Amino acid sequence: MTDTDMNQIAIILATGNRDKIRELRPLLENISPFFRVFALHEIGVKVDIEETETTLEGNALLKARAIFNLLAERFPFMIALSDDTGLEVGSLNGAPGVYSARYAPMPAGESPTYTDNVRHLLLSMNGIADRSARFRSVIALKGSLPSSQGPILFEETADGVVPGSITLEPKGDGGFGYDPVFLVDSTGKTYAEMSMTEKNALSHRSLAVQKAIAILKEMLAGQGIPSTVTTAPL
Ligand code: IMP
Repeated sequence: MTDTDMNQIAIILATGNRDKIRELRPLLENISPFFRVFALHEIGVKVDIEETETTLEGNALLKARAIFNLLAERFPFMIALSDDTGLEVGSLNGAPGVYSARYAPMPAGESPTYTDNVRHLLLSMNGIADRSARFRSVIALKGSLPSSQGPILFEETADGVVPGSITLEPKGDGGFGYDPVFLVDSTGKTYAEMSMTEKNALSHRSLAVQKAIAILKEMLAGQGIPSTVTTAPL
């Protein structure tokens, strides 16, 4: 017994982060009439995958592979999609980078909140004039697609980068994570001052997703599987 029809391809969002799910779903939903997008909690999966790699690519692939292997029997055709994101600050030698989720020092066994991390970043940059930074996301895909020769297995990564700077204090109520202190050069606004549609139109994650979608569409076309003709506004 499997969870999708043989002519459906499940896209599994390999993250438990509801903020990321909220951003990713509208970007992915209409790639192909054969795709169904699931978040892990919607299919009853609760896993904690430790990010043990030292690069965004390494961690994104680690998460996509783990979810793919866990669900391969339930979903005959499936793409596990994960992202790993880092905020890279020039004057901090690229920190917090791959450690963005765990930047603020905490007592053993405790994880920092978004607010802890933002506070620690602003403290670390106290008195620093060069506030240039960039957000970088890597999307990893690990999947199996139907073909006339049986399932095709693949792994791909795609990245997206947005340059900006770190504000002196938080601004805006939207978004999550470091959004209130990340000012996007091209707009003069922090991510937290943008609506989700505005952020999705230019964010590091949507740039990476757009590249990933282009890769997927090419793979679908190679197997004669239709994708939607119009490109969804991102
Ligand atoms: P992750 O390892 O990809 O989950 O991301 C690491 C950390 O980066 C998260 O805990 C957030 O604090 C932060 N982060 C990831 N994506 C964003 C974003 O789009 N805006 C602001 N912060 C983000």
